[in-house]
Amino acid sequence: MNRNIAVDGPAGAGKSTVAKQVAKKLGLVYVDTGAMYRAMGIYFLRLGLSSEDEAGITKACSSAEVSIAYENGAQQVYLNGENVTGSLREEAVGNMASCSSVYPAVRRKMTELQQALAAKTAVIMDGRDIGTVVLPDAALKIYLTASVEERARRRYVELQEKGQSCPYEEIKKDIRERDQRDMNRETAPLRQAEDAVLVDATELSIDQVVERIFLLYQERMK
Ligand code: C5P
Repeated sequence: MNRNIAVDGPAGAGKSTVAKQVAKKLGLVYVDTGAMYRAMGIYFLRLGLSSEDEAGITKACSSAEVSIAYENGAQQVYLNGENVTGSLREEAVGNMASCSSVYPAVRRKMTELQQALAAKTAVIMDGRDIGTVVLPDAALKIYLTASVEERARRRYVELQEKGQSCPYEEIKKDIRERDQRDMNRETAPLRQAEDAVLVDATELSIDQVVERIFLLYQERMK
């Protein structure tokens, strides 16, 4: 059996924070697949493409090379040889990633890259379609979610801590829109895999979620 863990769930549920900590505890490599879609988003933005231009985005896919490296344990994302990690969290990039990830050409490219990474080393990978499409044979699949209100609240606090402020209602609206797009797209929509364990983090701390995944994994690996 492979040792991979798939973590899926909606935006803001805490997937990456949790997955990073689980990776450390279990000696797995953490792969943030959202960052790869974001790198593609940077490429499309730089080309001046509209997120609605499926033909243009599909064509652009063939000239974008996304790769991953690890520096001091932290994932770095390269776009055609340039380290773009510092720009991944920009709002415009997140929007473009969310919109362009509905297109099959983008998903095919990212899925191949992610599967190649998992074939090389044991990973904990987070995203939207990891348990359903990318790693259907993962040893453990987690569907991590939380209420929209709680996800928006956490994002609000996170932005405030960074000295950026955005009205709570606006954040909530944005999260709802992302959920809609992720759950209703035709290719690889966000949904809980049949064999995934549902973890609702609305009333759980990060540490509690990490512990739960850790115990589930130990159980699976017996
Ligand atoms: O997780 P993160 O917010 O960084 O992902 C950016 C966007 O990439 C998401 O809004 C989602 O639409 C898309 N995505 C995806 N499939 C994945 C990971 C991310 O469609 N496996």
